[in-house]
Amino acid sequence: SSGQIEGNQLPRYVRVNTLKTTVEDVIDYLKREGFNYHGQAGRMEDLRTLSGKTFILDLHLPDLLVFPPKTDFHDHFLYQAGHIILQDKASCLPAYLLNPPAGAQVLDACAAPGNKTSHLAAIMRNKGKLFAFDLDAKRLSTMSTLLLRAGVTCQQLANQDFLKVDPESPEYSRVEYILLDPSCSGSGMVCLRDGCSEPQEGAGRLQALAAFQLRCLNHALRFPSLRRLAYSTCSIHTQENEEVVSACLQHNRGYRLVPLLPGWPERGLPPAPVPAGQPGHHSHPRLLRGRPGAPSRGGGRGGRGGG
Ligand code: SAM
Repeated sequence: SSGQIEGNQLPRYVRVNTLKTTVEDVIDYLKREGFNYHGQAGRMEDLRTLSGKTFILDLHLPDLLVFPPKTDFHDHFLYQAGHIILQDKASCLPAYLLNPPAGAQVLDACAAPGNKTSHLAAIMRNKGKLFAFDLDAKRLSTMSTLLLRAGVTCQQLANQDFLKVDPESPEYSRVEYILLDPSCSGSGMVCLRDGCSEPQEGAGRLQALAAFQLRCLNHALRFPSLRRLAYSTCSIHTQENEEVVSACLQHNRGYRLVPLLPGWPERGLPPAPVPAGQPGHHSHPRLLRGRPGAPSRGGGRGGRGGG
């Protein structure tokens, strides 16, 4: 059976695009339209009990508004004008945790249709350089439209296989942050609209996906100035998540996992045992470069709640 969950029971999330507006302005706009704003959520339960024309600010992420199930903003002015992005909470975590500073050089390896890219640009305040790759030309063109609407200007898009991007090229010599969100089984996707297909999850398919994900991750760690990488999938299979990360860390001893969002209720499985003489690893989804046993090079700069 598939891992799909009925989406019509789940709250709807709206990310405020801080390149175009502010959380305060969006809240005021919606209040003028008759919505009731109930402030910031204090606990998980607040997210599950929303109903009617009400909304709250998310518990964990600063620019995320939460609405009752089935609230649809696709035809709304704020969406059409790029002031809000219809992006699920889970999909907001990678860019938020990667947290590249303004002015940084950042690479989004498998980027289309680009919601995470636009989130990265917002976090960078459009300052710096955001290299974004995707193999699929059609998805990439959807992405240009999306980024234009969102007011993103720091990007450089390329219709290219990330595995063929040369980490040694001088162009990427200053890339310090990578977001890797590769193709996956989609087994953790929630169906929010009609017509979602069941994920296909033959053992062979999972194995092929996991092999691709691991190649991408190993490739990403070859960028010479990399300090921090966020790896994400929409899968609930350990084969595509913890196992990929563990296998990668076995071959890249210069990186370690860092604990983030200490208040987050669900954690991944602990990683595979580390051979004697190696420092312990943590089981949370961000990789940092650092000599084993020494503080990471990225640890002191703008981390989210841990380091
Ligand atoms: N990060 C995107 C977002 O938040 O909107 C979603 C990315 S989606 C999960 C994975 C993407 O990887 C697809 O658009 C697919 O075309 C692309 N892709 C697959 N293989 C690739 C490769 N070898 N190089 C670059 N992109 C690839």
